[in-house]
Amino acid sequence: MKLLKLVANLGYGSRKEVTAMVRDGRITDPQGEVLYTDDEVDHSLIRVDGEPLDPPTGVLLMLNKPVGYTCSMKDPGQVVYDLLPDRFRLRSPTLSTVGRLDRETTGLLLMTDDGQLLHRIVHPKSGISKIYEATLARDLTGNEVKVFASGKLMLESERTPLAPAHLEVVGPRHARLTLTEGRYHQARRMFAAVGNHVEKLHRSRVGGLELSDLPEGQWRALQSHEIDLLF
Ligand code: URA
Repeated sequence: MKLLKLVANLGYGSRKEVTAMVRDGRITDPQGEVLYTDDEVDHSLIRVDGEPLDPPTGVLLMLNKPVGYTCSMKDPGQVVYDLLPDRFRLRSPTLSTVGRLDRETTGLLLMTDDGQLLHRIVHPKSGISKIYEATLARDLTGNEVKVFASGKLMLESERTPLAPAHLEVVGPRHARLTLTEGRYHQARRMFAAVGNHVEKLHRSRVGGLELSDLPEGQWRALQSHEIDLLF
C-alpha cells in the first residue's frame, strides 16, 4: 500500500494533511531519510516525527478502563476512546470495543478494528471466560455459589436461564465470578438476584489474558501470540 493511504488510514490525518506532513519532511525512514506519498514502504520502517507508526490494521488493544468512562462514542461524558491518541478515532477501519464494560466497571477491555476477530471473541459459542472481582454491599451467604452454578438462574426480563457460572468466595464481601456469557449488566444483576448489591466491579481477566502491570487508564497493543491466549 502506498505511504499516503497507509498513514491516512491510521488516522494521522486526511490525505491532504498527510501530504503536507510529507512535504514538511515529518515522515521518514528509521535513519531519518524523508519518504514520499507514493512510496511503498513496510509499515515497520515508517516514522512520523521520529516515532514508529501505530500498529497496522488487525490490531487488538488491551485497555485498563477506569471508573467513569463508557464504551459507546454516542454516550455523553467521558468515553474509552478519550484514553487513546486522537488519531485512533480516525482510523479506518474504526476501532470498536469487544463487548462492553459499564461506566462504573473497571479493568480489562479489548478494542479492535478486526470485525472477524471481534465476532470470534464475543460469539456466545466462543465460551471465552471473563473473570470479575466483585466487592459487595452485604456479606455473602454461601448459597450464591450453588445458585450461580445451577444453570437455572433467570434474570428479570430474560427468556433463558444463565449458563452455569463459577463463584469463588474470597472474603465476606469479596467474590471472584467467572462468566462465559456477556448479558447486559450480568454480574450486577446476578448479585441483585440473590439479594446483594455490587459496590465495585473489576474485570481482571479475559480468556488467558490478564492486565498484569498495565496501569489504570493505559493501553497497549497485543502481540499475535497474546491473541492466541484468548482461544
Ligand atoms: N457485568 C456487569 O454487570 N457489568 C459489566 O461491566 C460487566 C459484566
